[in-house]
Amino acid sequence: MGAARAKQIVSGWSTVRYELLNSRICDLGVHIKGSPVALVIRQVERELLAKGIKFKPLFYLSDSWGCPDEVPAVGVPFYLADRRLARIEEEQTGEIEDHRTALMLLRHEVGHAINYAYRLWEWTGWTEVFGKFSRPYRDTFMPDPYSRDFVRHLAHSQYGRNYAQKHPDEDFAETFAIWLTPRSGWKMKYRFWPAIRKLNFVARMMRTLRRNPVPEIPEGPLVNPVSAMTIQLAAHYGQRAERYRAAAQGYVDDKLSGVFPLVRSADQLKASALIQRNRQKLAFIVSLWSGLNPEEVTTILDKLADRAAQLRLRAPKAKTQEKLIEITSLATSLAKDFAYTGRFTG
Ligand SMILES: [Zn+2]
Repeated sequence: MGAARAKQIVSGWSTVRYELLNSRICDLGVHIKGSPVALVIRQVERELLAKGIKFKPLFYLSDSWGCPDEVPAVGVPFYLADRRLARIEEEQTGEIEDHRTALMLLRHEVGHAINYAYRLWEWTGWTEVFGKFSRPYRDTFMPDPYSRDFVRHLAHSQYGRNYAQKHPDEDFAETFAIWLTPRSGWKMKYRFWPAIRKLNFVARMMRTLRRNPVPEIPEGPLVNPVSAMTIQLAAHYGQRAERYRAAAQGYVDDKLSGVFPLVRSADQLKASALIQRNRQKLAFIVSLWSGLNPEEVTTILDKLADRAAQLRLRAPKAKTQEKLIEITSLATSLAKDFAYTGRFTG
């Protein structure tokens, strides 16, 4: 069987996918810091600085791209903060933003954020150039694909590259995005388009803005921050997690949660720490009674510790000995299962 096979089962994609799909989004523990999307955010922050703009919007993980209305905060899809979640997004929807697309979307959203932070739409000339900010926002519109009154930035599935025509707020965000993009060559590219006056207007506004103090960012309210997304990941995609259960041969969450049910006692210990502290002793005993080699057993123990940490499982300190016996039994039963069938059954 071998430790490689054990590892392949406990951390194989089928198991990981089911663990994730079967979790609530708020419990996935995703955050921007140190994640793949942090690189995209940092790049756009650098672009702002390079243009002399010290304003930094608040970035937060959400269900999709977007700024809450008139709040200078940028929602970034949570799946971009974790490669495994990005893989699920792609499996479920058939697409995923690449680095370039994510950058383009971020520049557009930063356009909204800066508009809201400085209330630019109230500045002289904004309405003349982009139209009324208060115009009703409609979800569908009929774009004119030949219009040269608007810049072309985002490629939208439904409206092609005519998203700027949706609303004056979108027109501003798209124009700002082009202005912010390094080496976009807008002065040349748009020189014979009426849209050039919008770009020149944004450039002028940004020169003025550099001299203004950075505004205090009002606190929220944020729309769908990941911490409030209590929906199960599978349900978020309109799926039933159970569909993926059979393929998840290394799934141990149910059994672990059985050993460590939710407790409310004040004096608690972490299940993951309990397993890690006794790792060597457990590996020896479980190996002795299951017939698996210690390396294979260690793979199983590490899996239990990992999942216990992810699920934030705990037990009352008073029950330490009892829980240690239960964990030994669980690990032995998993190891025997694995020794006989090459998977964890149940
Ligand atoms: Zn927008």
